[in-house]
Amino acid sequence: MDIRQVGVVGAGQMGNGIVHVFALAGYDVLLTDISEESLQKAVATIDRNIERQVARGKVLPADKRAALDRIRTTLTLTDLGQCDLIIEAATERETVKQAIFDDLLPHLKPTTILTSNTSSISITRLASRTDRPEKFMGFHFMNPVPVMQLVELIRGIATDQDTWDSLHAVVRKLGKTAASAEDFPAFIVNRILMPM
Ligand code: NAD
Repeated sequence: MDIRQVGVVGAGQMGNGIVHVFALAGYDVLLTDISEESLQKAVATIDRNIERQVARGKVLPADKRAALDRIRTTLTLTDLGQCDLIIEAATERETVKQAIFDDLLPHLKPTTILTSNTSSISITRLASRTDRPEKFMGFHFMNPVPVMQLVELIRGIATDQDTWDSLHAVVRKLGKTAASAEDFPAFIVNRILMPM
């Protein structure tokens, strides 16, 4: 599946980092939140953080401009309907995430892949309440996203191979490393870190 347009739900700490790396990697990104202030803050944070990469010689000024041009924001969740990939990075509460997917589903293309950046909620459970459990996966980025190399990919019980392969290709395009995690609370990294 060819992924070009990415929708990110939630403009907090993780959402702004996710938008940052996708825009720099050449994806068009549409970011949504319930708060206009959060959207504005996220875009300002991304601008500042990419500027730091420019100052360190890691990103060319022209690439920064191109990345910022690829980012759009909206307060209307259903504007994400034409996206090829949705990354839900909203507040860690199952009812919040559930309501987001419920509201989005009628507006999505049949081919759209749904993912959640949740750290602890069952992917299979979230997936089972959608119309496309085979196209649903956990997409667990680490904080701070532009710095952390590892991304955990979590299959739900029904996730199909095409969806897995598509997300794997996305992680490669981001220049990051994918790790396969079981759908078990805290996945890999947090399960190791929590006792410490
Ligand atoms: P955050 O509190 O910084 O941001 C959450 C954002 O979601 C807020 O801007 C809020 O306004 C928005 N939001 C809430 N309800 C919404 C809705 N209905 N529609 C759209 N936006 C909505 O949270 P965060 O730290 O960015 O975490 C986001 C997700 O990422 C959570 O699932 C969390 O478990 C996961 N995560 C967090 C970290 C971390 O270190 N912070 C690491 C990995 C994964």
